[in-house]
Amino acid sequence: MLVEVAVPAPVHRTFTYAAKDPRALEPGRRLLVPFGRRETVAFSLGAAREAPPGELREVRAVLDEEPVFSPELLSLLRFAADYYLHPLGEAMRAALPPQLLEGKTVGERASFPDRAALALPPEAAREAVRRAPRQAAIVERLVEAGGALDVENLRRELGEVAPLLRALEAKGVVRLSSHPRREPENFGGGPPPEPTPEQAEALRAVEASLGRYQTFLLQGITGSGKTEVYLQAIRAVRARGQGALVLVPEIALTPQLAARFRSRFGDEVAVLHSGLGDAERVREHRRLLRGEAHIALGARSAVFAPVRDLGIVIVDEEHDPSYKQEDRFRYHARDLAVMRARLAEIPCVLGSATPSLESMENARRGKYARLVLSRRLDGRSLPEVEVVDLRQPAETGDAQEPEILSTRLLEELFATLERGEQAILFLNRRGHSPLVLCPTCGERASCPNCDVGLTYHRSTESLRCHYCDLRVRRWERCPSCDEELLILGAGTERLEQCLRERLPRARVARLDRDAASSARRLHRILSAFAAREIDVLVGTQMIAKGHDFPGVTLVGVVLADVGLGLPDFRASERTFQLLTQVAGRAGRGEAAGKVIVQTFRPTADAIAYACRHDPEGFARAELVRRQDHGYPPFRRMLAVHLDGKDAAEVQRQARALGELVRRLATERVTVLGPAPAPIARLRGRSRFQILVLADRASTLQSIGRRLLGALPTARGVRVALDMDPASTL
Ligand code: ADP
Ligand code: ZN
Repeated sequence: MLVEVAVPAPVHRTFTYAAKDPRALEPGRRLLVPFGRRETVAFSLGAAREAPPGELREVRAVLDEEPVFSPELLSLLRFAADYYLHPLGEAMRAALPPQLLEGKTVGERASFPDRAALALPPEAAREAVRRAPRQAAIVERLVEAGGALDVENLRRELGEVAPLLRALEAKGVVRLSSHPRREPENFGGGPPPEPTPEQAEALRAVEASLGRYQTFLLQGITGSGKTEVYLQAIRAVRARGQGALVLVPEIALTPQLAARFRSRFGDEVAVLHSGLGDAERVREHRRLLRGEAHIALGARSAVFAPVRDLGIVIVDEEHDPSYKQEDRFRYHARDLAVMRARLAEIPCVLGSATPSLESMENARRGKYARLVLSRRLDGRSLPEVEVVDLRQPAETGDAQEPEILSTRLLEELFATLERGEQAILFLNRRGHSPLVLCPTCGERASCPNCDVGLTYHRSTESLRCHYCDLRVRRWERCPSCDEELLILGAGTERLEQCLRERLPRARVARLDRDAASSARRLHRILSAFAAREIDVLVGTQMIAKGHDFPGVTLVGVVLADVGLGLPDFRASERTFQLLTQVAGRAGRGEAAGKVIVQTFRPTADAIAYACRHDPEGFARAELVRRQDHGYPPFRRMLAVHLDGKDAAEVQRQARALGELVRRLATERVTVLGPAPAPIARLRGRSRFQILVLADRASTLQSIGRRLLGALPTARGVRVALDMDPASTL
């Protein structure tokens, strides 16, 4: 028997092996095969027609009882590999938890009891585990939960607890038991709310399309009840016995959302994200594969989750840039979600308050059906926005750096704190100051590896590169003229410090990648803010996402212009989305909210339309601009990125590839470059890029495939092809 095999290796072809075990012919199975001088896990694509010339090697083992890829997933992966010009075996590798590439057979779940209960009174139990902190953590959790908990819950919170529980059982501290699965009703979530008329209309449309392909764009401001629509649509899908796939941007940032799904669907939900331990990831994957869980909830790579008999695909915050993978397999999870729905002939719901221009345009053309939730459930209107123009009239003489906090913003901060309410201050730039400069020679402290300036971080007295993470001690003086250095501009650290000076009695905290360097620290800051132990939370875009804090009545955007000047065609769209999201954090509770936006560019579209809460207006203006330039979503883009240590060599290769692209380009194709990338050096490598635009993706893919055949192989130049690039920096 001959089997066609996809090997996870950077080769754009499949291989043929001989097989004795007929199960090897079943597409989607993991196989162990010899490859070069090693043995590797690979994937069956089914029977091969004819043997290639030369010696035929043999499949060493067939792994697992069942294929890890269903025919449906396999066709999605074939599509994705083709579309994104990526080797199929590598794409398949990316779709699995990393542990499944190690060649171990996915074993049966060891039968472990379901429930753990304290066998001693709390004090005695604590005493018994005084010297075993990990056992003590379990005891504490059990005490907190009133004496008993499902082992599953303990696993979720504390990782693999089986050996610890066995030890506790042996000491007589804990009793373990098995119980039958609970009915899906009693998860403590209570009955779902009655849908509002708008929700009911959206649900009717989605439910009417179950069983066939249709993509919906569910456009609704934050708090308008989108998540409730997802939950009830999934309930309808489950009632048909089918499964659901739900994608969210960064699940670690939204623990509330996972909790909400769990309270509605209990164990039916498998949560997939990179923060899980290896064992847990494999376990959640397996629960889906076996049909023990039917709802997959996860970030980008969950688009490949092995949900059985999939009935609906949902993408929350569909505009979020984190759906695009920016290295290796450069897929866009939202776009693949739509394709997965299409291949499975089921509906797909894309939800957002600020849809991507791609989705807006698809809705306008009638490819997507638009569903609108126009009102917040609490009956509140969107917060009032006041713009503070930071430009200074020319006659005031010497130009000065403006105060970080304008008088207006300070007044509102005082008033908010006076009323016992909370505020969020948004500044999308971490560190203390982004600019360190010699006043005499003008030399700027910049990264030796990257083409970007260094940011001063006061907390560590260091200068840091935000691209390669280089950290050096803060320079006291200019290295060339020994002059004292100027530190200019503000990031979140400086903003926090400024607040502590101006509002000495306020409780201030900061939320950015430095302050929330782990999921635990992040969680701690968010819960303290939710518990109102913090009055003012300062942060980067981390605070913009879906959190719901009813005590927040003031949102200050400290500098709306950050990001607007980036030389990327999506800079304006991103800024608009971010500002709208941040503004949506204000006034989600009893009291009305207010937003103050400080900016040097009050008339820029991204800022002006965000201040007016007008996504349609923004889309209209920005789409005209995109059309004029022939950019996506009107034309498709393929970026060819080149990088290498030797700048001259990269440039030479870029020129050669540029010529080749121009030769391959037909008349309706536009080729921009080769040109140095906006960040011309990153991590010590020089970067060039070529942007190719065409009316149809297939035109770009055939150019891409020709390029793959002609890529330079030696001399340390890396070339990456990026279909539908999310960023051209
Ligand atoms: P979004 O996802 O658009 O931000 P949610 O679905 O989270 O909105 O809804 C906002 C709040 O309103 C949540 O607390 C949710 O439980 C509640 N909610 C949603 N739909 C209803 C409804 N039909 N009736 C009552 N409360 C609702
Ligand atoms: Zn750097």
